[in-house]
Amino acid sequence: MNIDDLFIAADPDGVQRERLKAKELKRSPWWKGQLGRGRCHYCGVGCHPGELTMDHVTPLIRGGKTSKSNCVPACMTCNQEKRHLSTIQWQSHLEQKKLALSALAAASPPAPDRAEPQG
Ligand SMILES: [Zn+2]
Repeated sequence: MNIDDLFIAADPDGVQRERLKAKELKRSPWWKGQLGRGRCHYCGVGCHPGELTMDHVTPLIRGGKTSKSNCVPACMTCNQEKRHLSTIQWQSHLEQKKLALSALAAASPPAPDRAEPQG
């Protein structure tokens, strides 16, 4: 891969072309296999295949392409939170989210073993 490929400014026609390619890729057995795993690529949450969306790791608007190496299944939450963030910005967002969640877990009392309400 040419390093310059990473820094192409996205032109609207190119983005439109890549969106059409994404539509085709969504019909491929490869993509159906990705959905069949039933897991978000980013947060690892288990999802019904119908709830997973195709996410471009490098967003189209940032010059990303529709290719097997750039498309991953993502849950709605991750897809909405990621939007047009670059890979680096998104990684940093995910790390902060994990830290916040673990801080929250550490601050809360341990969950009771039984789900039944205490009388
Ligand atoms: Zn997710």
